Amino acid sequence: MLVLKFGGASVAEPENFLKIADLIIERTQTYKKIVIVVSAMGNTTDRLLQLAYRVNPTPHPRELDMLVSTGERISMALLAMALSAKGVQAVSFTGSQSGIITTECHAEAKIVDVRPKRLLEVLERGQIPIVAGFQGVSRRGEITTLGRGGSDTTAVAVAIALKISEVEFYKDVPGIFEEDPKKNANAKHLPEISYQDALSLAKAGAKVLHPRAIALAEKNQIQLTIRSFQECGETRIGAKNEQNRPLQFETEEG
Ligand code: ASP
Ligand code: MG
Repeated sequence: MLVLKFGGASVAEPENFLKIADLIIERTQTYKKIVIVVSAMGNTTDRLLQLAYRVNPTPHPRELDMLVSTGERISMALLAMALSAKGVQAVSFTGSQSGIITTECHAEAKIVDVRPKRLLEVLERGQIPIVAGFQGVSRRGEITTLGRGGSDTTAVAVAIALKISEVEFYKDVPGIFEEDPKKNANAKHLPEISYQDALSLAKAGAKVLHPRAIALAEKNQIQLTIRSFQECGETRIGAKNEQNRPLQFETEEG
């Protein structure tokens, strides 16, 4: 089983959904069961935030989460449609429908549990579940979001809940480099890196992966692979550990 996570750049244009559908179909040759997590298209989240502040300079955090969580819903539905156009059955789910339970804290919620009942039903039917990243639901039933870049953390949490030991992230760069490859074309590519080194790079501002996703993966020994949706090359973070270990989600404190 494998979790595939598609970042905002990989779904920036409508045509990308059809390309990604081919990539997903290709991965199903190797992995029988696949779960997808998607980000919002391109700069959709920024546009939704701007929209809110044009209407109210101090929007209520609850309403802001209601608004910004829609970005990922657009992506998940379009991807399900793209897969269907290619004859593959996929079903999209919001964070709430996927059973992603978070703290109450709007815009910075932590994932404290995942109850993937609906995802398991879809997998059981031989279909592909698509989960909206970046969002969840509090125990009181309020829609929450996980903080900017939070879809990476959704992907790792879904893997933990389904006991899947690998997550592949599709970005606009083929992995991690010693320097920013968009600034230095000769930057050295790193094919393998430890969780701790990836975490230091992410915390230092390298936009590789959401630091919380790396920390959560280390805690549960999930292997992360970063790939580009348009070119070859990859970076693997951490090692796969098939041992049976207790599931550990995020904690209130961090
Ligand atoms: N769409 C959200 C953001 O732009 C979440 C994500 O992309 O991971 O921050
Ligand atoms: Mg985004």
